[in-house]
Amino acid sequence: MHGFTDETEALGQAILSYAADRLRLDPVPLDGPRTPEQLDKVAGATITPGGMGGAAALRLFEEVLAPACLSIDHPRYLSFIPCAPTEEAAMFDLVVGASSIYGGSWLEGAGAVHAENQALRWIADLAGLPESAGGSFVQGGTIGNLSALVTARATARVRHTEQGRTGEGPRPWKVAATAGSHSSIASACHVMDAELVPVPVDEHWRMTGESLRAVLEQEGPETIFAVVATCGTTNFGVIDDLASVAEVCGEFGVWLHVDGAYGGAGLAAPSIRDRYAGVERADSFIVDPHKWLFAPFDCCALLYREPALARAAHTQKASYLDVITDRPEWNPSDYSVGLTRRARGLPLWFSLAANGTRAYTDAVERTLEVARFAEAEIERRDYVEQVHPAGLTVVVFRRLGWGPADYQEWSDGLLDRQEGFVVPTSHDGETLARFAIVNPLTREDDITAILDSMA
Ligand SMILES: *Cc1c(COP(=O)(O)O)cnc(C)c1O
Repeated sequence: MHGFTDETEALGQAILSYAADRLRLDPVPLDGPRTPEQLDKVAGATITPGGMGGAAALRLFEEVLAPACLSIDHPRYLSFIPCAPTEEAAMFDLVVGASSIYGGSWLEGAGAVHAENQALRWIADLAGLPESAGGSFVQGGTIGNLSALVTARATARVRHTEQGRTGEGPRPWKVAATAGSHSSIASACHVMDAELVPVPVDEHWRMTGESLRAVLEQEGPETIFAVVATCGTTNFGVIDDLASVAEVCGEFGVWLHVDGAYGGAGLAAPSIRDRYAGVERADSFIVDPHKWLFAPFDCCALLYREPALARAAHTQKASYLDVITDRPEWNPSDYSVGLTRRARGLPLWFSLAANGTRAYTDAVERTLEVARFAEAEIERRDYVEQVHPAGLTVVVFRRLGWGPADYQEWSDGLLDRQEGFVVPTSHDGETLARFAIVNPLTREDDITAILDSMA
């Protein structure tokens, strides 16, 4: 170990050619899970005192382990929120791995952090956030949301003290969000020992300033340290009425966090940009480039209007860190939960730099086009019916006459035949079918083929 020999050279070539072949595959096999017993049987004991050698381990991965992992970038992987990295982003992930970069501090990773900050700036500009805005790339929306809410509560606590009140503030602190907000918001509240207060939605399933105002008045605005609005709910792509919500947050002085983990990418699409009006007033904002901005796992852009507030909330202090924290430079770890950090924004940066932002606009618009096609196809067919107009690129629909077992059987059959990966979802207790389209390679005929399979 730890030496570059002829054998390492050969392994390096094999790894690079494996990676290139994987990117070249068209179509990539969908693949799918096996049981632990099946994998035990074919993989055997892989870790031994003597080691099996790199070539054998790579072969094992290629022949046994990789086929037991779904290809998230398959054009008919339409479940959850898929991920379809650009070739440039996926390839650059290899470079990031090979480069031993510490992305937590400017001292250690200045060049990487500088590039990441330009990618963050592109997103901040799409959202219309001020020049002062900044943050970092974190693992995913869950950590992004948690980090933003920790900052919001720290800020509320400071204000609580400044107003001459004693103690750490109300018990419990509360967060307001709709039932459509992502599970990670409830999870963050759980971690923070905060209470999640539901905000009712309007007839379009959106939070509005009006419904928020009623909740704030009833709960007492000083107990609510953050409002979480969603721009693109995970299940339906609903965008809250950000402008009226921002107005009410401003009026009550409550932190507005906008969760755009999935839908934030739509800011890059001129055809729907007006639906996000008000996002520019967010105190914090996230978008997951590993969802609809074509970066590999795992990558969430976390932005703050006033980054100093996040720094005050998150900077870890220790004698062994003083050389970093005593400097005025931009240390990404100061803006989130977590210290050690992969420069996980670099694959996105590289792809943006290589392809230009226009290519991103085109790719996002293309997925919207396919989602509109899916809606029209569902409308056209008499055995399926859309549940709610698609806000973005998730399309949820029912197969008339089907119960939960029918959906599951159909979904299992699609995967067994390697024709697609489309798992059911549910809403108000009803099992439903759902397409999440974020892959620009998903085509109209993929949609018709899957709909045909439900006839
Ligand atoms: C996916 C998602 C999250 C969580 O992001 P992870 O990257 O999976 O942690 C949060 N909010 C919304 C709206 C999401 O769609």
